[in-house]
Amino acid sequence: MIALRSYIGGRWIQGEGTPQTLVNPATEEPLATTSSAGVDLAAALDYARSRGGPALRAMSFAERGAVLKAMAQSMQAHRDALLDLAVANGGNTRSDAKFDVEGAIATLSAYAEIGASLGAARFLVDGEGLQLGRSPRFHGQHVCVPRTGVAVHINAFNFPAWGFAEKAATALLAGMPVLTKPATSSAMVAHRVMEILVDAKILPEGVLSFLAGSPRDLPSLLGAQDVLAFTGSGDTGAGIRALPNVLRESVRVNIEADSLNAAVLGPDVAPGSDMYELFLKDVQRDMTQKAGQKCTAIRRVIVPQAVAATVRDDLVELLGAVRVGNPAREDVRMGPLATATQLADAREGVERLAQEGRLAFGSAAPFAAAGVDAGKGFFISPVLVEFEAGAAASAVHAREVFGPVASLLPYSGAAGEAAAIVARGGGGLVSAVYSDDSTWTEEAVFGIAPHHGRIFLGHPKIELSPGPGTVLPQLVHGGPGRAGGGEELGGPRGLALYLQRVALEGSRPVIAKLVGTQAG
Ligand code: NAP
Repeated sequence: MIALRSYIGGRWIQGEGTPQTLVNPATEEPLATTSSAGVDLAAALDYARSRGGPALRAMSFAERGAVLKAMAQSMQAHRDALLDLAVANGGNTRSDAKFDVEGAIATLSAYAEIGASLGAARFLVDGEGLQLGRSPRFHGQHVCVPRTGVAVHINAFNFPAWGFAEKAATALLAGMPVLTKPATSSAMVAHRVMEILVDAKILPEGVLSFLAGSPRDLPSLLGAQDVLAFTGSGDTGAGIRALPNVLRESVRVNIEADSLNAAVLGPDVAPGSDMYELFLKDVQRDMTQKAGQKCTAIRRVIVPQAVAATVRDDLVELLGAVRVGNPAREDVRMGPLATATQLADAREGVERLAQEGRLAFGSAAPFAAAGVDAGKGFFISPVLVEFEAGAAASAVHAREVFGPVASLLPYSGAAGEAAAIVARGGGGLVSAVYSDDSTWTEEAVFGIAPHHGRIFLGHPKIELSPGPGTVLPQLVHGGPGRAGGGEELGGPRGLALYLQRVALEGSRPVIAKLVGTQAG
């Protein structure tokens, strides 16, 4: 067993006290221990602010982008070892592990390119300059400069590599040092990434710190120039938002939380058509990839009443073909949930849904998973819960079951009704629509849009379509309401979280000289 350490103040530190144990969620074999007790968190934050911040702010976007490129290359050089760790500690199939690790490398690479395209600048000029009065001399210009604090990143257990990379890429490119904390249960991949980056010596001192184990009171140590980006449960997020220092000092907080993502089938889509097959494939993939532990996974499948029974039968057939078991086996398509707590939570969620609907496939009951000893591992089967049209169900729109679980909800076929059902989720990360009818699509998309960060328009002509569950660095990730109200990524938009927008107001030649634009 290895002991995971924190990288704080420019050195590796082992926590004190009784450590937490990390296990293989398929076999429950202990793999590592970790503790953050005794780590001086305030000193860690100060070191990042005082050493990492100035170093990064002295670099141009192109130079910061070059650091991101070197990070991506270092991870790529150790890709296979990272995949093995994700299989062992994350319960990932090899394909799930690639989704996380290769997604991390791709995201770092994408931001490296954005850095290169922003060139020698060290801050962003925001929009055109403005003449403010009758005199052309009276001028205004917005600029965005890096904040001088530290960006603290608290991640969820499901994407230890990508979660680290997508947050770190934007903060570092913007010019803020990062202290990153993975979820403890699956921290081995993130810990190994940190070791790789430290060994590669590509980051200036203090630019990247790593906390292993419990966050303790980390969010309450943040101040006005710091940023906290959190991914996890809505309850933890709400607690962070309500911290006295966060309220008092207006600490900038971004929250990525729960989401009841939907996939809506249009009434024009005939069973057996290419669009229909794509829709089925996307639902099956989203339900079973990473055992449904994706914040973007489809939870509510909304289909016209006329084809609801056909969709149910087709999904039942597809889900029945998914072999669940130890992801170290090549024939296994779906692994376990991450922890015993997640399993208990998912089982409770399935039972709650089944009180309002009907189990069409699977259940919360224990079952024999392939390649593991009886009773071992945190396994749940895929579960499809079927609802009556117009059912007065509430849990299906309020309870995110973080596992391979989806609900089938029939509707009349009217776009407005579908959008109203989607909106009952209270705000989500992504929803998908599948239709070739442009009038229906327009009404559905603009009905759903205010409630989401992203809308996926499925189409069979898109080659190698990744489906709605894949977050791309070019597009924003986040959503209103239940989803946390946050926004990450979106290409250069992602930098905004770490930048202070400032309006410069004064004499045009003076401002032009400051921002490096033409005065004339
Ligand atoms: P969680 O308990 O909120 O934990 C998430 C992270 O927060 C972990 O790193 C955890 O550290 C840390 N944490 C726990 N308590 C904290 C506190 N009081 N202050 C600061 N940090 C704290 O969430 P979870 O149950 O592990 O994650 C599952 C949920 O996350 C899912 O139900 C899903 O809804 C949501 N999720 C959302 C997204 C998204 O992008 N929107 C992505 C993934 C997951 P420890 O691990 O050390 O406790």
